[in-house]
Amino acid sequence: MARYRRSGYPVRLGRPRRIIRLVHSPLLDEERRGLVDDVRRFALEELADPGYADREEGGEFWHEGWRKCAAKGLCGLPVPQELGGAGADRVTTAAALEALGYGCVDAGLVFSINAHLWSAVVPLWRHGSDDQRERFLPRLARGEVVGLHAMTEPDSGSDAFALRTVAEPDGAGHVLRGRKTLITNTPVARLYIVFARAPATEGALGVSAFLVEAGAAGVSTGEPTEKMGLRTSPMADLVLDDVYVGPEAVLGKPGRGARVFASSMEWERLLIMAAQLGALDRALEEEVAAARHSKRSAFGLEPNNDVLVDVRVALDAARALLYETAWSYDHGETRASRAAAVKLFASETVLRAALDMSDGRRLRDAVGGRLYSGTSQLMRRIVARDLGL
Ligand SMILES: Cc1cc2nc3c(=O)[nH]c(=O)nc-3n(C[C@H](O)[C@H](O)[C@H](O)COP(=O)(O)OP(=O)(O)OC[C@H]3O[C@@H](n4cnc5c(N)ncnc54)[C@H](O)[C@@H]3O)c2cc1C
Repeated sequence: MARYRRSGYPVRLGRPRRIIRLVHSPLLDEERRGLVDDVRRFALEELADPGYADREEGGEFWHEGWRKCAAKGLCGLPVPQELGGAGADRVTTAAALEALGYGCVDAGLVFSINAHLWSAVVPLWRHGSDDQRERFLPRLARGEVVGLHAMTEPDSGSDAFALRTVAEPDGAGHVLRGRKTLITNTPVARLYIVFARAPATEGALGVSAFLVEAGAAGVSTGEPTEKMGLRTSPMADLVLDDVYVGPEAVLGKPGRGARVFASSMEWERLLIMAAQLGALDRALEEEVAAARHSKRSAFGLEPNNDVLVDVRVALDAARALLYETAWSYDHGETRASRAAAVKLFASETVLRAALDMSDGRRLRDAVGGRLYSGTSQLMRRIVARDLGL
């Protein structure tokens, strides 16, 4: 296993060469390849944080890194330019995030950017009224405000619509009451998308999405959640204790929060692993470079590099699936199962690779991939449904 310097680079290799291998998806044209190269260069040069190991140990969010990524346009990648974003399609967004993951050692920072994009930026862009978009979207897309969504509760995770947080009608508005758990970005976010149900309703019907601003009366956050991986991505419970929100806070149609959640999940399941595939590409390059110079053998046999070969093949397969599926959504695909398949295959690939390469830090970062955005079992159920099983 590679030991890591405080910079996050393996001790035995020192700082890796700048850009070792650049294999673009054939779905990217020349112009977009240039953009992606630029993000990769930016991440390698601007996000090489010498304090990363200490921050990782302390579970500390990198505000400066966030601001740099925001200035680069990474916090609003898919949002149209006229709404304050970068106007990237899904293929370009995937490639930009892959490049970010390749160059940035802080996987927690990259994860927080992903959470912000898929759980706050995209739903506001896709479901916000003109007023809501005008009020929040440009600041979110420019990364001036960090966003989150709060769905999971102590008694509901995979079965998301078993949630109990209630939205009691109060005049024209609602009073929100409940507790959300395992919520990424809680300690740093200023805008929350909270899912809550009308009293005496069950299942998805009756659940609405509400925009709640940090600091609203009755909102509080729990202690930071201790995590084994992605430690620099802050997480905590979100507590709603009789929080009044006006009628303008409902995102999408009242009682149709499931649609907001579904579009969020479609983008998230498609794209959330792109950065981790980039990070795995980088890790593999480092392992291959080390293996080339290694004299180590076992049982008097030639060194066996099958593990690295298998990781290369699996990584290429995951990238191909990601880009082809991103392209299909860019061209009208609507089935949720396609994004679920990407999430399933890519997260399992990253986890298996970290395990096989005995890479402790990446393994700790990869474990959560089996849970967030829906567990691997849930992804299998979604694909199974599409197969008619
Ligand atoms: C790093 C990280 C970040 C997260 N960020 C957020 C966030 O920002 N916002 C948010 O709302 N939530 C967030 N979550 C929570 C995440 O969405 C939940 O962990 C996930 O939905 C699983 O829910 P659970 O943890 O309650 O597990 P459970 O649903 O209790 O599942 C436990 C196990 O049982 C299995 N299981 C459950 N039901 C079935 C079934 N019917 N069939 C087969 N197997 C089943 C699951 O696959 C899993 O293996 C995050 C989680 C992690 C790890």
